[in-house]
Amino acid sequence: MNKPILTIVVPCYNEEAVLKETISQLIMVVNDLIEEALVSKNSKLLFVDDGSKDQTWNLIEAECDKNRMVTGLKLAGNVGHQNALIAGLETANNYSDCVISIDADLQDDIHVIKTFLEKYWEGSDIVYGVRESRETDTFFKRNTALFFYRFMERIGMKLIPNHADFRLMSKRALEELLKYKETNLFLRGLVPLVGFSSTKVYYDRKERLAGESKYPLKKMLAFAFDGMTSFSVAPIRFVTFLGFLSVVISALVGGYAIVQELLGHTESGWTSLVISIWFVGGLQLMGIGIIGEYIGKIYREVKQRPRYAIEVDRFSTLVKEKQEE
Ligand code: UDP
Ligand code: MG
Repeated sequence: MNKPILTIVVPCYNEEAVLKETISQLIMVVNDLIEEALVSKNSKLLFVDDGSKDQTWNLIEAECDKNRMVTGLKLAGNVGHQNALIAGLETANNYSDCVISIDADLQDDIHVIKTFLEKYWEGSDIVYGVRESRETDTFFKRNTALFFYRFMERIGMKLIPNHADFRLMSKRALEELLKYKETNLFLRGLVPLVGFSSTKVYYDRKERLAGESKYPLKKMLAFAFDGMTSFSVAPIRFVTFLGFLSVVISALVGGYAIVQELLGHTESGWTSLVISIWFVGGLQLMGIGIIGEYIGKIYREVKQRPRYAIEVDRFSTLVKEKQEE
């Protein structure tokens, strides 16, 4: 096997506080891999600036000028982690034999990248980085995540617990992934659908090196809800079930109200009436909400909007120069 060209894709949004350190550490990692003959010397780092409002892009450009291993992609606006990542992967695809995605904050252990490549050499098309412990996450984040994975499993979604977006993919696996054209991207749900042989590599997730999380509670909930409704119709079935249940309950309540009415206790009839109105009304609203969520998804998919727009591409220009040399 020829030494594979590796591209490490790093989505960055307002990461000026950590980026310099991240770049220099990743350069060291790739240099080691080159030295150990695990990857080609043409391997690259690709930093995707997801419409940052700080100095992120300037930092990336400065590093691109200094070191030919470093390349950058500037997106025209903020499209979110998942879309920024797919922008990087799509750009890297033609040139690379394998790609690794990793967050910019160095929470994932870069030392297991070597193990990723060993697994690749052994024939794995996909290598998942899995967090062994989540001790550095807050109690809240840890437990909500646990609940999320359990819940997803129950509603029939294939997710790899404690795996985020730190993974290696071979060219053929990536090419399959890129065929999924959906606008609502949830990569950690899609990648297992691609198939091929895969391995898990365990590591400890660290504290964010600097800067702050771009996933506050509100975004986390939205992300979880998106994941759920993008891959499963279980929520909608649950509502159907609730609807059925409410009809049964209303019939009972109705029967009770009629009896009370006949006995001349109209006040109690009034009570059950009010309760059932509220109960059924609530269920209906909930049902409409969930149906609306799916319709909203269909609406977004039907429009087939592009997932991102590229403003500056320093990856492809660099690769082209290289080929002309
Ligand atoms: N990110 C991005 N676009 C966004 C939000 C985040 O590209 O709109 C990047 C961010 O720079 C980081 C990665 O996605 O490299 C994960 O974000 P973060 O570390 O804030 O999430 P957490 O680890 O707290 O879940
Ligand atoms: Mg992080």
